[in-house]
Amino acid sequence: MNERALQKKLSRLTPGGLRYFDSIGSTNDEALAWVGAPDFSLVIADEQTQGRGRLDRKWFTPKGSGLALSLILRPPAVHTPYLSRTVGLAALSIADACSGLGLAPLIKWPNDILLNGKKAAGILIETVWSGDEVDSLVIGMGINVYKSSVPPAEFLQFPATSLEDELGHSAPAREEILFDVLSAFQRWRERIATDGLLQAWDAALAFRGEQVHVVGESPVSGELLGLEADGGLRLRAANDNFVIIRFGDVSLRPGA
Ligand code: ADP
Repeated sequence: MNERALQKKLSRLTPGGLRYFDSIGSTNDEALAWVGAPDFSLVIADEQTQGRGRLDRKWFTPKGSGLALSLILRPPAVHTPYLSRTVGLAALSIADACSGLGLAPLIKWPNDILLNGKKAAGILIETVWSGDEVDSLVIGMGINVYKSSVPPAEFLQFPATSLEDELGHSAPAREEILFDVLSAFQRWRERIATDGLLQAWDAALAFRGEQVHVVGESPVSGELLGLEADGGLRLRAANDNFVIIRFGDVSLRPGA
C-alpha cells in the first residue's frame, strides 16, 4: 500500500482528506489529533504498533497484513438523533464487503465482525465533543485480510480469523477491500435514519435466539432477541425479564 495508489483507488469516493503511514501507533490517535479534518477524512496505516481495542485492550495489525484505518465524520445536524447507530453503519459496511467476497459475515454486537464464529474485524468509535455537541466521530476499523494478521492464540479471549483463511485462497488487495467498505459506508450513511438500516443490521446479528452472556459492569445472561431503534441490544433474561444493553464497554460471549 502507498499513498498515491490509495488516493487513486479512493478518488471516486471523494474522501475529505487522506493521511497514509507505513507505520503508526494508532490510527484513531492520529485521527483524534487531526484538527479541522473535513468530513469523511481517512487515516490509514500499513502497520499499527499501539492499536487500541476498547478499555485497555490492544488491536494487533502487523505490517502488510490487514487494514487499519480511522474514518472521521463531521455529522450534519440531521444525523444527530441517530448517531448511536454509527457502529451499525460501520459493522454493516465491513459485513457487506465480506459478503461481496462470497463469505457469510455476522455481527457480534456491538463492534466485531465474525466469519465462521471467529473475529475477522473490530470497530472502535471515539467521539470528539464541542461542549454538549458532537464535533466529530472517529471510527477505527481493523480488518484481518491476510493470514499474518491473526494474533497468536495466547493473545485472544475470542477466536480470530482472516479473510484469506476463510476464503481458502488469497484475498484481494487491501485497497479493493477498503474501497468496498467505504462505498458501503457511504450508502448506509445516507440511510442512517431509516428502518431499512435497522432491519439489515438486525438480520446480520450473531447469536440471535441463542443464550449470550454480556460481560461488563453489570453482567447479564439471556436470549438475544434483537435491536432497539437506537442500536441497543434486547435480551430476554431470567423470569422473562426484558433487558436492554446500551453500548458502553460490554462484550458478548456465547453461552449462559
Ligand atoms: P472484545 O472482543 O472483548 O469485545 P474489543 O472489541 O475491545 O474486545 O477488541 C479487543 C480484543 O480483540 C483484544 O483484547 C484481543 O483479544 C482481540 N484482538 C486484537 N487484535 C485482533 C485481531 N487482529 N484479530 C482478532 N482479534 C484481535
